[in-house]
Amino acid sequence: MSGEAPAHQVLARKYRPQGFEELVGQPGVSQTLSNALSSKRLHHAYLFTGPRGCGKTTTARILAKGLNCVKGPTPQPCGECAPCREIAASSCLDVLEMDAASNTGVDDVRQVIIETVALAPARDRYKVFIIDEAHMLSNSAFNALLKTIEEPPPHAVFILATTEVHKVPATIASRCQRFKFRPVAPEPLAEHLAAIAKKEKVAVDAEALRLLARAAEGSLRDAVSLLDQCRSAGEGRVTVESVREMFGFVSADLLLGAARALHERDAKALAGWLKKVYEEGVEPAQFLKDLRAAIEAVYLEKLGAGDADPAWSQALSGATAEGLGFLLRRLNRALEELRFGDSPRLALELGLFSALEAAHDLGAWVARLEALERRLSAGGGGPALSAAPASAPVSVTMPPAPRDEAPALTAAAQPAASGGADWSAFVAAVSRQKLALGTTLEKCAHETRPDGGWTIRFARQFDLDGAERARTFLEEALAALAGRPLKLQFALGGTAAPSASVDIVDPAIPETPGGAPPGARWKDVTEGGPDAGAAGALKKAEGVFGGKARIIKKPTGGA
Ligand SMILES: [Zn+2]
Repeated sequence: MSGEAPAHQVLARKYRPQGFEELVGQPGVSQTLSNALSSKRLHHAYLFTGPRGCGKTTTARILAKGLNCVKGPTPQPCGECAPCREIAASSCLDVLEMDAASNTGVDDVRQVIIETVALAPARDRYKVFIIDEAHMLSNSAFNALLKTIEEPPPHAVFILATTEVHKVPATIASRCQRFKFRPVAPEPLAEHLAAIAKKEKVAVDAEALRLLARAAEGSLRDAVSLLDQCRSAGEGRVTVESVREMFGFVSADLLLGAARALHERDAKALAGWLKKVYEEGVEPAQFLKDLRAAIEAVYLEKLGAGDADPAWSQALSGATAEGLGFLLRRLNRALEELRFGDSPRLALELGLFSALEAAHDLGAWVARLEALERRLSAGGGGPALSAAPASAPVSVTMPPAPRDEAPALTAAAQPAASGGADWSAFVAAVSRQKLALGTTLEKCAHETRPDGGWTIRFARQFDLDGAERARTFLEEALAALAGRPLKLQFALGGTAAPSASVDIVDPAIPETPGGAPPGARWKDVTEGGPDAGAAGALKKAEGVFGGKARIIKKPTGGA
């Protein structure tokens, strides 16, 4: 590097890799290009593809230096000769860089490339054309370029870089040697940042580097600028807290606490952690994503496909892969609902609490039945049970299933009157598309009129108006369930019994699972999901009682 270095030089420019050995995270690319330069088996056109920030333009400049270095062609450009220094500073007359994003037209191509390509290089060995964002060129520009690439003068080399290779015409792409750049993995990114921090004498925690590398999402350029921002803000010191603060990362305590509460099915503790999420101003989406990423790592570890953070492995050591898979699906669904709903907070709470409840209800229920079965087979059946005639139907009371699992369960257990529809299936169907409306309906009472249609009663005029606006949607949903068109009527007054709710309280994480029956964790909910569990449990009940069991939903909730 020549000239005076400014007091605060942008790190990304200062530490831009200058040779193939300095390229980060692209071993295949640097190896192949180095070999080509040392064996002098060079192409006239190269196509570099891959996501932004992973080193395509940097590699193009290194290749240009390798071609034009006074000691070249060489895989190790000296970095000191005039061509090397000028290429590094983008001021070399024989290496022309063109940003196709701002020069898309045929005239630009003609001016920069076609009219100069035939002329011999001004000084250097090759005339190198680097075309960045090549996919942005217009069709006529590509056509003009094609003729040149088809029959290039011996001194011309083209390097096309693009993030969207599918937009580059096949006629062009097929004449180029292609190199696929990959997003840089977090480990080499963090190592690279550590090396820069050391040279810059910036104190950085290892965990902070890991966070920065993750935030950069595979882009070396982004990773270095993020480090730069943190360095400026932290006055020479970069801590985990400052990185979290700066980029809105969720603190590890919060994530781990929530995961532990989920694992131990501790609604109170979970509510406490959620309260903290709101207090700290963490975005619900960010929280769900970070939670999902951490749990996914443990899930993969349990499947033998990776390593998780030891603190997380420890916290979720009692969970099974099935249980974690179930939870991950719930988190995915919550994120989906969050994206399409109008209340991120509601989506977050519904997602987490329903994950907790689904495991709880079915798990505890099956555990109770199993205990009963054991007692019966041990010959300790109570008098009331043994006195019941074998053919009499036995009712098993079950807490309400989580709403989205409800349709299948209730449809099988309580066939709707002919031509009618099931209320909870209706609410579930509405919730799938309009979460807020579904949540309102959950709290409403309804009556079936003689014509099979429903009168729905709302507590507030506001909710009634909302339903009125969505009348067409609601009647279509009802018709789909009933198999025929039915009319809805809306009225004020009267609501269903309130469903169980959870108050937000301070975090109180018990040292041991709070009164959870053994063997009633997520692992009880297997791949088939809660429905399969319910059906299995129903069978079990029939086996135990020797009669016909059916599921009756208890309206007020609670196990
Ligand atoms: Zn050189």
